[in-house]
Amino acid sequence: MSDPVLSIRGLSKRYDSGTEALKTVDLDIERGEIFALLGPNGAGKTTLISIVCGLVNASTGTVLVDGADWRSDYRRARSRIGLVPQELTTDAFEPVWSTVSFSRELFGKPRNPAKIEEVLRALSLWDKRKTIMKELSGGMKRRVMIAKALAHEPEILFLDEPTAGVDVELRRDMWAMVRRLRDQGTTIILTTHYIEEAEEMADRVGVINKGELILVEEKRELMKKLGHKDLVLHLA
Ligand code: ATP
Repeated sequence: MSDPVLSIRGLSKRYDSGTEALKTVDLDIERGEIFALLGPNGAGKTTLISIVCGLVNASTGTVLVDGADWRSDYRRARSRIGLVPQELTTDAFEPVWSTVSFSRELFGKPRNPAKIEEVLRALSLWDKRKTIMKELSGGMKRRVMIAKALAHEPEILFLDEPTAGVDVELRRDMWAMVRRLRDQGTTIILTTHYIEEAEEMADRVGVINKGELILVEEKRELMKKLGHKDLVLHLA
Protein backbone atom coordinates (compact mmCIF):
# COMPACT_ATOMS: atom_id res chain seq x y z
CA MET A 1 0.00 0.00 0.00
CA SER A 2 1.65 3.23 -1.15
CA ASP A 3 -0.13 5.93 0.78
CA PRO A 4 -1.98 4.81 3.91
CA VAL A 5 -4.05 7.53 5.51
CA LEU A 6 -3.84 5.70 8.80
CA SER A 7 -0.96 3.54 10.02
CA ILE A 8 -1.30 1.54 13.20
CA ARG A 9 1.82 -0.11 14.53
CA GLY A 10 2.30 -2.41 17.50
CA LEU A 11 -0.90 -1.28 19.16
CA SER A 12 -1.69 -3.12 22.37
CA LYS A 13 -4.03 -2.45 25.25
CA ARG A 14 -4.17 -3.97 28.70
CA TYR A 15 -6.94 -2.48 30.83
CA ASP A 16 -6.41 -1.93 34.56
CA SER A 17 -8.59 -4.99 35.13
CA GLY A 18 -5.82 -7.05 33.48
CA THR A 19 -7.82 -7.78 30.33
CA GLU A 20 -5.57 -7.83 27.29
CA ALA A 21 -7.96 -6.27 24.79
CA LEU A 22 -5.44 -5.76 21.95
CA LYS A 23 -2.24 -7.67 21.24
CA THR A 24 0.26 -5.85 19.02
CA VAL A 25 -2.01 -4.87 16.16
CA ASP A 26 -0.49 -3.58 12.90
CA LEU A 27 -2.85 -2.18 10.29
CA ASP A 28 -2.71 0.24 7.36
CA ILE A 29 -5.85 1.91 6.07
CA GLU A 30 -5.83 3.11 2.48
CA ARG A 31 -7.15 6.53 1.58
CA GLY A 32 -10.73 6.33 0.32
CA GLU A 33 -11.41 2.70 1.16
CA ILE A 34 -14.19 1.15 3.20
CA PHE A 35 -12.55 -1.15 5.72
CA ALA A 36 -14.64 -3.50 7.86
CA LEU A 37 -13.30 -4.79 11.15
CA LEU A 38 -15.14 -8.03 11.73
CA GLY A 39 -15.21 -9.92 15.01
CA PRO A 40 -17.33 -11.35 17.80
CA ASN A 41 -18.21 -9.74 21.15
CA GLY A 42 -15.17 -8.75 23.15
CA ALA A 43 -12.75 -9.13 20.22
CA GLY A 44 -11.27 -5.64 20.71
CA LYS A 45 -13.01 -3.69 17.95
CA THR A 46 -14.24 -0.83 20.13
CA THR A 47 -10.92 -0.68 21.97
CA LEU A 48 -9.06 -0.25 18.67
CA ILE A 49 -11.40 2.50 17.50
CA SER A 50 -11.32 4.22 20.89
CA ILE A 51 -7.54 4.38 20.87
CA VAL A 52 -7.37 5.77 17.35
CA CYS A 53 -10.01 8.38 18.24
CA GLY A 54 -8.14 9.40 21.37
CA LEU A 55 -10.70 8.18 23.89
CA VAL A 56 -8.51 5.47 25.40
CA ASN A 57 -4.73 5.38 25.83
CA ALA A 58 -2.82 2.53 24.23
CA SER A 59 -0.46 0.48 26.37
CA THR A 60 2.05 0.33 23.50
CA GLY A 61 2.19 1.31 19.86
CA THR A 62 1.74 4.25 17.53
CA VAL A 63 -0.95 5.70 15.31
CA LEU A 64 0.13 7.75 12.30
CA VAL A 65 -2.28 9.94 10.36
CA ASP A 66 -0.77 10.72 6.96
CA GLY A 67 2.58 9.64 8.33
CA ALA A 68 2.57 12.05 11.28
CA ASP A 69 2.41 10.80 14.84
CA TRP A 70 -1.09 11.44 16.00
CA ARG A 71 0.08 12.69 19.39
CA SER A 72 2.32 15.42 17.94
CA ASP A 73 -0.69 17.44 16.79
CA TYR A 74 -3.67 15.92 18.54
CA ARG A 75 -6.19 18.63 17.67
CA ARG A 76 -5.42 18.55 13.99
CA ALA A 77 -5.40 14.77 13.79
CA ARG A 78 -8.63 14.52 15.75
CA SER A 79 -10.39 17.10 13.61
CA ARG A 80 -9.76 14.87 10.60
CA ILE A 81 -11.54 11.97 12.26
CA GLY A 82 -15.27 11.48 12.82
CA LEU A 83 -16.61 8.85 15.21
CA VAL A 84 -20.06 7.32 15.44
CA PRO A 85 -19.89 5.43 18.75
CA GLN A 86 -22.18 2.58 19.73
CA GLU A 87 -23.80 4.59 22.49
CA LEU A 88 -25.81 7.75 22.05
CA THR A 89 -23.98 10.82 23.27
CA THR A 90 -26.49 13.63 22.95
CA ASP A 91 -28.32 15.98 25.27
CA ALA A 92 -31.94 14.84 25.59
CA PHE A 93 -33.31 18.39 25.58
CA GLU A 94 -31.20 19.78 22.73
CA PRO A 95 -32.80 20.19 19.29
CA VAL A 96 -31.32 18.25 16.39
CA TRP A 97 -29.98 21.36 14.64
CA SER A 98 -27.93 22.64 17.56
CA THR A 99 -26.79 19.13 18.50
CA VAL A 100 -25.22 18.79 15.07
CA SER A 101 -23.94 22.33 14.62
CA PHE A 102 -22.36 22.38 18.10
CA SER A 103 -20.49 19.23 17.21
CA ARG A 104 -18.90 21.09 14.28
CA GLU A 105 -17.89 24.00 16.48
CA LEU A 106 -16.27 21.66 18.99
CA PHE A 107 -13.66 20.93 16.36
CA GLY A 108 -12.95 24.61 15.85
CA LYS A 109 -14.54 24.72 12.41
CA PRO A 110 -16.27 27.97 11.44
CA ARG A 111 -20.06 28.00 11.58
CA ASN A 112 -21.52 26.81 8.32
CA PRO A 113 -25.32 26.53 8.28
CA ALA A 114 -25.32 25.37 4.65
CA LYS A 115 -23.08 22.43 5.59
CA ILE A 116 -25.30 21.50 8.54
CA GLU A 117 -28.34 21.64 6.28
CA GLU A 118 -26.61 19.42 3.72
CA VAL A 119 -25.74 16.84 6.38
CA LEU A 120 -29.25 16.87 7.87
CA ARG A 121 -30.87 16.51 4.45
CA ALA A 122 -28.53 13.65 3.48
CA LEU A 123 -29.64 11.78 6.59
CA SER A 124 -33.35 12.58 6.18
CA LEU A 125 -33.25 14.67 9.34
CA TRP A 126 -34.15 18.04 7.89
CA ASP A 127 -37.80 17.86 8.93
CA LYS A 128 -36.70 16.98 12.48
CA ARG A 129 -34.21 19.81 12.88
CA LYS A 130 -36.26 21.56 15.57
CA THR A 131 -37.20 18.39 17.46
CA ILE A 132 -35.45 17.78 20.76
CA MET A 133 -33.43 14.59 20.98
CA LYS A 134 -35.56 12.77 23.51
CA GLU A 135 -38.57 12.95 21.22
CA LEU A 136 -36.84 11.09 18.39
CA SER A 137 -37.11 7.36 17.69
CA GLY A 138 -34.04 5.19 18.24
CA GLY A 139 -33.37 5.07 14.49
CA MET A 140 -33.57 8.85 14.18
CA LYS A 141 -31.22 9.27 17.15
CA ARG A 142 -28.72 7.08 15.34
CA ARG A 143 -29.02 9.27 12.28
CA VAL A 144 -28.24 12.28 14.48
CA MET A 145 -25.15 10.51 15.80
CA ILE A 146 -23.94 10.11 12.23
CA ALA A 147 -24.77 13.74 11.43
CA LYS A 148 -22.77 14.81 14.50
CA ALA A 149 -19.78 12.83 13.31
CA LEU A 150 -19.98 14.35 9.82
CA ALA A 151 -20.63 17.96 10.79
CA HIS A 152 -16.94 18.92 10.88
CA GLU A 153 -16.29 17.24 7.49
CA PRO A 154 -13.86 14.54 8.62
CA GLU A 155 -11.67 12.72 6.13
CA ILE A 156 -11.80 9.47 8.09
CA LEU A 157 -15.05 8.20 9.56
CA PHE A 158 -15.28 5.43 12.16
CA LEU A 159 -18.62 3.69 12.59
CA ASP A 160 -18.74 1.38 15.61
CA GLU A 161 -21.37 -1.28 14.85
CA PRO A 162 -23.55 1.17 12.96
CA THR A 163 -26.31 -1.29 12.18
CA ALA A 164 -26.56 -3.16 15.50
CA GLY A 165 -30.24 -3.21 16.40
CA VAL A 166 -31.44 -1.01 13.54
CA ASP A 167 -34.31 -1.85 11.20
CA VAL A 168 -33.94 -2.89 7.59
CA GLU A 169 -34.76 0.54 6.19
CA LEU A 170 -32.16 2.35 8.29
CA ARG A 171 -29.60 -0.36 7.54
CA ARG A 172 -30.14 0.15 3.83
CA ASP A 173 -29.94 3.93 4.22
CA MET A 174 -26.71 3.58 6.19
CA TRP A 175 -25.11 1.41 3.57
CA ALA A 176 -26.11 3.87 0.85
CA MET A 177 -24.79 6.77 2.91
CA VAL A 178 -21.47 5.03 3.58
CA ARG A 179 -21.00 4.38 -0.14
CA ARG A 180 -21.89 7.98 -0.96
CA LEU A 181 -19.34 9.26 1.54
CA ARG A 182 -16.69 6.95 0.15
CA ASP A 183 -17.48 8.18 -3.37
CA GLN A 184 -16.93 11.72 -2.08
CA GLY A 185 -13.48 10.72 -0.83
CA THR A 186 -14.07 9.87 2.83
CA THR A 187 -12.20 6.89 4.25
CA ILE A 188 -14.54 4.65 6.24
CA ILE A 189 -13.72 2.14 8.95
CA LEU A 190 -16.65 0.25 10.39
CA THR A 191 -16.93 -2.55 12.91
CA THR A 192 -19.42 -5.33 12.62
CA HIS A 193 -20.33 -8.78 13.89
CA TYR A 194 -21.90 -9.67 10.57
CA ILE A 195 -19.99 -11.18 7.70
CA GLU A 196 -22.86 -10.22 5.37
CA GLU A 197 -22.37 -6.60 6.30
CA ALA A 198 -18.63 -6.78 5.65
CA GLU A 199 -19.37 -8.49 2.36
CA GLU A 200 -21.95 -5.91 1.37
CA MET A 201 -20.00 -2.85 2.36
CA ALA A 202 -16.27 -3.23 2.50
CA ASP A 203 -13.38 -3.09 0.05
CA ARG A 204 -11.19 -4.89 2.59
CA VAL A 205 -11.96 -6.83 5.72
CA GLY A 206 -9.90 -7.35 8.87
CA VAL A 207 -10.86 -10.20 11.16
CA ILE A 208 -10.13 -9.62 14.82
CA ASN A 209 -10.47 -12.18 17.58
CA LYS A 210 -9.34 -12.05 21.21
CA GLY A 211 -7.37 -8.89 20.55
CA GLU A 212 -5.47 -10.25 17.56
CA LEU A 213 -5.90 -9.14 13.98
CA ILE A 214 -5.80 -12.60 12.47
CA LEU A 215 -6.51 -11.78 8.83
CA VAL A 216 -6.66 -8.77 6.52
CA GLU A 217 -7.88 -9.41 3.00
CA GLU A 218 -9.52 -7.85 0.01
CA LYS A 219 -13.17 -8.73 0.44
CA ARG A 220 -13.28 -11.01 -2.59
CA GLU A 221 -10.27 -12.99 -1.38
CA LEU A 222 -11.72 -13.38 2.09
CA MET A 223 -15.02 -14.65 0.77
CA LYS A 224 -13.22 -17.12 -1.47
CA LYS A 225 -11.10 -18.39 1.40
CA LEU A 226 -13.76 -18.68 4.02
CA GLY A 227 -17.00 -19.15 2.16
CA HIS A 228 -19.94 -17.10 3.26
CA LYS A 229 -21.07 -18.91 6.32
CA ASP A 230 -20.85 -18.21 10.01
CA LEU A 231 -17.30 -17.00 10.18
CA VAL A 232 -17.95 -15.06 13.33
CA LEU A 233 -19.57 -18.00 15.07
CA HIS A 234 -16.42 -20.02 14.49
CA LEU A 235 -14.15 -17.42 15.98
CA ALA A 236 -15.34 -17.05 19.55
P1 ATP B 1 -18.45 -5.81 21.16
O1 ATP B 1 -18.64 -6.34 19.79
O2 ATP B 1 -19.17 -6.62 22.21
O3 ATP B 1 -18.68 -4.34 21.30
P2 ATP B 1 -15.58 -5.42 20.94
O4 ATP B 1 -14.98 -6.29 19.88
O5 ATP B 1 -15.85 -4.01 20.59
O6 ATP B 1 -16.89 -6.10 21.53
P3 ATP B 1 -14.12 -4.37 23.20
O7 ATP B 1 -15.29 -3.60 23.71
O8 ATP B 1 -12.99 -3.62 22.62
O9 ATP B 1 -14.60 -5.51 22.18
O10 ATP B 1 -13.59 -5.25 24.42
C1 ATP B 1 -12.40 -6.05 24.33
C2 ATP B 1 -12.12 -6.64 25.71
O11 ATP B 1 -11.75 -5.59 26.59
C3 ATP B 1 -13.32 -7.33 26.34
O12 ATP B 1 -12.85 -8.43 27.08
C4 ATP B 1 -13.88 -6.26 27.26
O13 ATP B 1 -14.57 -6.85 28.35
C5 ATP B 1 -12.63 -5.54 27.69
N1 ATP B 1 -12.87 -4.12 28.02
C6 ATP B 1 -13.40 -3.19 27.21
N2 ATP B 1 -13.45 -1.98 27.81
C7 ATP B 1 -12.93 -2.17 29.05
C8 ATP B 1 -12.70 -1.30 30.15
N3 ATP B 1 -12.98 0.00 30.11
N4 ATP B 1 -12.14 -1.83 31.26
C9 ATP B 1 -11.81 -3.15 31.32
N5 ATP B 1 -12.00 -4.02 30.31
C10 ATP B 1 -12.55 -3.55 29.19
